[in-house]
Amino acid sequence: MEALHCISCGKGVIGENFVRFKCPRCQKEDIIRCSVCRKNSKIYVCKKCGFEGP
Ligand SMILES: [Zn+2]
Ligand SMILES: [Zn+2]
Repeated sequence: MEALHCISCGKGVIGENFVRFKCPRCQKEDIIRCSVCRKNSKIYVCKKCGFEGP
């Protein structure tokens, strides 16, 4: 199984309540965020296109 890490804080999210969605701009990169970063509206940056979103 691939290791999943929160894109904002880098923490492993296996077993966590996390969200996973495609980057809204390039639709290619998977954005993964842990429940803490989602709650705190932490900025994420797409590794492929550099899109920043809350
Ligand atoms: Zn996080
Ligand atoms: Zn992107």
